[in-house]
Amino acid sequence: MGRKFFVGGNWKCNGTTAEVKKIVITLNEAEVPSEDVVEVVVSPPFVFLTLVKSLLRSDFHVAAQNCWVRKGGAFTGEVSAEMLVNLAIPWVIIGHSERRLILNESNEFVGDKVAYALSQGLKVVACVGETLEQRESGSTVAVVSAQTKAIADKVLSWENIVLAYEPVWAIGTGKVASPAQAQEVHFELRKWLHDNVGAEVAASTRIIYGGSVNGANCTELATQPDVDGFLVGGASLKPEFIDVIKSAT
Ligand code: PGA
Repeated sequence: MGRKFFVGGNWKCNGTTAEVKKIVITLNEAEVPSEDVVEVVVSPPFVFLTLVKSLLRSDFHVAAQNCWVRKGGAFTGEVSAEMLVNLAIPWVIIGHSERRLILNESNEFVGDKVAYALSQGLKVVACVGETLEQRESGSTVAVVSAQTKAIADKVLSWENIVLAYEPVWAIGTGKVASPAQAQEVHFELRKWLHDNVGAEVAASTRIIYGGSVNGANCTELATQPDVDGFLVGGASLKPEFIDVIKSAT
């Protein structure tokens, strides 16, 4: 089964109503490859999700940037997977490094979140990635394997998961991984899935790259055999996000 290219735009904690509307207009006017070729998902902050969903072209979809680990209730400040489903938000990003590192989300907590979101019918972009210190100490593959294992230990199926490899040293720094560096880790992640989950899951799961992807560097990264798309932060707020979508192979 071919893996459809996936391009996600992670808007993070950015935007006003006016700015969000402007980005949506740019996306709506863009000429991009069809939905058969590329799956496009943008992820505004929670408060703009319904606005973006109501204005966005129907061939693009929306994702939340997080959700609560279990059923909602007395958890002040949290948003539950049930609420996202109720609003017909199809996707959620889980385990972004900003949440792992700044908000201390552990591998196990991320695994629980992914499993719960899937159980409610959401599709999940699950993020993994090593810090600079971990890369320099040679533990990249061990780190991303442990992060992936914590997810694999909790989920019943990988059908609705996109795995995002996002090296922390590349996020928001302008230091994009080289195509060879990205390919090497994507290959290892696919091998991990093959050896620990199964050949079919390894062949069909999309592994996307994130970390300083932009309109200029996406084309070469996209040619790597195990790079099935991108999760784009900064550049997803700009018109060059269209160029990233067009890099779909
Ligand atoms: P960046 O962020 O493209 O701004 O580096 C990517 C991400 O955090 O998903």
